[in-house]
Amino acid sequence: MATNTGEISEKTAAMKQIKDEVVACRKCALCEFRRQNNYFPVIGQGNHCAKIMFVGEAPGTNEAKTGRPFCGAAGKILDELLSSAGIEREEVYIGNVLKDRPPGNRNPQPEEIAACTPYLERQIEIINPEVIGALGNFSVAFLLEKYGLKDKIQGISKIHGQIFETGTKFGGKIIVPLYHPAVAVYNANMKEILKNDFQVLARQIGKN
Ligand code: URA
Repeated sequence: MATNTGEISEKTAAMKQIKDEVVACRKCALCEFRRQNNYFPVIGQGNHCAKIMFVGEAPGTNEAKTGRPFCGAAGKILDELLSSAGIEREEVYIGNVLKDRPPGNRNPQPEEIAACTPYLERQIEIINPEVIGALGNFSVAFLLEKYGLKDKIQGISKIHGQIFETGTKFGGKIIVPLYHPAVAVYNANMKEILKNDFQVLARQIGKN
């Protein structure tokens, strides 16, 4: 974790650079949808020195209207899960595979993922978390592939709550696949499963 002021201000400057690039980005069609609706890109939010980083799928309407990740119904669930695991929202960083909301909440398309994830990769490099909580199938697939674990990719129902360690070649990270919190909005059973998986995640940094 960065402890000196110089390192922290370098991180802040690097994050600001990414923000400026995303605001001006024209690499895929989602930027048009953003402009037509007066939406904001959702760059990411949280502690630049976080030990835990969460990566979701893409902003929903509330997020695109405010520019803040997980501030709608799924965000309320995420807050509850964090609190159940003894983790403060302020101590983590939260980003997404896509920075812009896809129309009608459709799935991210391969060309959108290819265009947008270089920004996320730079954010991961800057934050350098010990643990990444991958929220939902798109995030899990992207992260496992990025860290050389493509052969481990399976549907989230098969691998949620498992621990995947990346080689030191990739900076020695732990990836924990998690159901997307949105699955628990109307299903209390899923919330219990998520809470158990968040305990697994918290233990990776010595909590609980
Ligand atoms: N769902 C996501 O995947 N990301 C958000 O930021 C909000 C909802």
